[in-house]
Order: sequence, then C-alpha cells, then structure tokens
Amino acid sequence: MNDCIFCKIINGEIPSAKVYEDEHVVAFLDISQVTKGHTLVVPKVHMTDLFELTPDAASQLFRTVPKIANGIKKQFAPIGLNILNNNGELAGQTVFHFHMHLIPRYGKGDGFG
Ligand code: 5GP
Ligand code: ZN
Repeated sequence: MNDCIFCKIINGEIPSAKVYEDEHVVAFLDISQVTKGHTLVVPKVHMTDLFELTPDAASQLFRTVPKIANGIKKQFAPIGLNILNNNGELAGQTVFHFHMHLIPRYGKGDGFG
C-alpha cells in the first residue's frame, strides 16, 4: 500500500492546483503558501529524496523548472525566486517523495528568509 500524499496527488486521488504536467513531472501549488505562488515540482515516479533520485529523473525534473518559473513570474510578478529542496527529516523534509520548492520572492517581509 502506498500512503504517499504526492503519489495520491499524481494519481488524482487528492486534488491539487496543478500548474504544469508532462509525462514525467507534475508541478502544483503548495497547500501552505510560504509566499504567493509557492510551487512544488515533483517526479511522477516515487523516489524518496535526492539520494534515490536517478540522473534521468533529475534531468526530466530540472528541464521543466525555467518554464514553471517563468509561468510564476508571469502570473505573480515576483522580484526573485528561491529553489529549495529538503532531504531527510533533520533537513526539514516532511513529505518523503522528492520535490523542489519554487518560492517566489517579493521583498523583505514576504514571509521567507
Ligand atoms: P518538505 O517539508 O517535505 O520540503 O515540503 C513538503 C511540502 O508539501 C510542504 O510545504 C507542505 O505544505 C506541502 N504539502 C503537504 N501536504 C500537501 C498536500 O496535500 N497538498 C499540497 N499541495 N501540498 C502539500
Ligand atoms: Zn510518492
């Protein structure tokens, strides 16, 4: 049995606000928006963290990031954007399906950093 919340989002068992999808990758808004437009980029195949991520999956994932970032830029007009990835509980990972956070930045006091 797979209890992974991101696998459930990928399978459509749990709703999400998807901003991008292709054969290998899905991106959706984080349920808890650190800043407006906070987005998660996720491989469709379950891999726990960076240590399990295959080079192919890394490449499929990262090649989507400029497109997704530009979509965020167009929709939300941030001044900057951080990419964040937590691996392991100690490092702050709470969902154990690899994902990258795209966190748009709007200036001091925008809620991040
Ligand atoms: P982590 O702490 O593992 O780097 O990030 C996990 C992220 O997943 C958190 O920012 C959290 O808000 C988000 N998250 C957890 N459950 C859900 C969910 O059901 N839907 C969406 N869209 N995001 C989720
Ligand atoms: Zn999963």
